Amino acid sequence: MPAPRIVIIGAGFAGYNVARRLERSLKPHAAQIRIVAPFGYTLYQPLLPQVAAGVLDPRSIAGPLHRLLRQTQLIPGSAVGVDLDARTVEVALIDGRTVPVDYDRLILCPGSVTRTFDIPGLHEHGHGMKNLAEAVYLRDHVIAQLELASASHDPAERAARCGFLVVGGGYSGVETAANLQLLTVKAMRRFPRLDPALVSWTLVDVADRLLPELGERLGVDTLHRLGRRGIDIRLGVSLERLTADTAHLTDGRVLPCRTAVWTAGVTPAPVIATMKAATERGRLVVGADLRISDRPEVFALGDAAAVPDLVTGGDAVCPPTAQHATRQAHTAADNVISSLLGRPTREYRHRDLGLVVDLGGGQAVARPVGVPLSGPPAQAVTRGYHLLTLPGLRAKTRTLGDWALHALAGDDLIRLGFLDTRTGRLADLEHTAGR
Ligand SMILES: Cc1cc2nc3c(=O)[nH]c(=O)nc-3n(C[C@H](O)[C@H](O)[C@H](O)COP(=O)(O)OP(=O)(O)OC[C@H]3O[C@@H](n4cnc5c(N)ncnc54)[C@H](O)[C@@H]3O)c2cc1C
Repeated sequence: MPAPRIVIIGAGFAGYNVARRLERSLKPHAAQIRIVAPFGYTLYQPLLPQVAAGVLDPRSIAGPLHRLLRQTQLIPGSAVGVDLDARTVEVALIDGRTVPVDYDRLILCPGSVTRTFDIPGLHEHGHGMKNLAEAVYLRDHVIAQLELASASHDPAERAARCGFLVVGGGYSGVETAANLQLLTVKAMRRFPRLDPALVSWTLVDVADRLLPELGERLGVDTLHRLGRRGIDIRLGVSLERLTADTAHLTDGRVLPCRTAVWTAGVTPAPVIATMKAATERGRLVVGADLRISDRPEVFALGDAAAVPDLVTGGDAVCPPTAQHATRQAHTAADNVISSLLGRPTREYRHRDLGLVVDLGGGQAVARPVGVPLSGPPAQAVTRGYHLLTLPGLRAKTRTLGDWALHALAGDDLIRLGFLDTRTGRLADLEHTAGR
């Protein structure tokens, strides 16, 4: 019997952990495992804001696939279509060629991209915080604004370059605003020509509280902590229109602003929409054993799949979090093996362990196993959690070293300039294969 061909699409939390579990559970050569991934790393997204803020080096949160996966073949490219009847994935390789990849078992884990709305100017002027390119771009962009403001004699230009807006009060938006605001405040020492009072940060969300996942008390705590730092937080407010140098809010305010970061939600990777399969809010509908209906050989999980949340019950589906993607990966790998051996599959069931949110500067809020924490204890739990869950020893060691170096020596404020020729729009930097 030829070894079954297992193909995984995407090497994020879900895809990487499926491959790793398969490698550990299967004897060498018992199956041919292949992973389609556009980059050579698995990205630890929760620490992206710290890359943007210069606390961490980009490589510290990128787990090297060639080192971490020893028996899995990397197909460097992106899935642009799936023929479920022919059991073939169409892959656009990174050199532009398109090749078919056949499978006996397919595991779909392409994650999500930033969800946007038809807000005038958002696509032209908004930035995202979903991948390494966006984090590195944003860091360069923010430092460039301070450099240009310092070099300008025009008060209006200086105000717009020092005005920063983040849309979205979930963990991604809060961490981005908190960490980047600290960067700009501390950077003022290097820009003596700029009045520190010019730097303004605004965080808006249509909801009536921050970080709803953490409960009301920690949401209010975060609001006060960030407010004391000088971040203007507006709840029940969103973005109405964006131009190159202004942000128009739904409460009527017009902010001078050349940096707007959009973190208001995610939507599944575009390749999912190319498939002839049922979706719920764009996520692939799967059963509790992570298989899509009528296709027992196809599994889907992570942000791209609407996985029933059996712990919450009812019609609830698991929220798009790294915690669920990682746990689902274990179930998916076990069920792939069971399906190959003709054994029954098991259902995915996981009780949420809580969330950690790093606000930078020694501050954090967290709710591990339901216990609300803030301040230094939350910071210790947050950093300990990240060190435990970062992929591989190199990433953990690098991250620990970066934290120590940053605490001792501060920010180097280096603007790399690699992305100067790109506009840094969401459409430029996010992964849109299959669209
Ligand atoms: C700033 C930020 C902070 C976050 N903080 C937390 C947190 O504190 N706790 C938490 O639980 N979650 C957090 N999350 C959410 C978490 O990162 C996601 O839920 C998680 O990454 C989902 O895992 P995934 O494997 O489904 O997708 P991803 O990790 O996004 O991986 C998908 C991979 O597939 C690749 N891909 C996309 N399309 C294709 C294609 N067509 N072909 C091949 N490959 C493709 C992508 O490039 C990517 O590498 C955060 C997210 C962000 C952006």
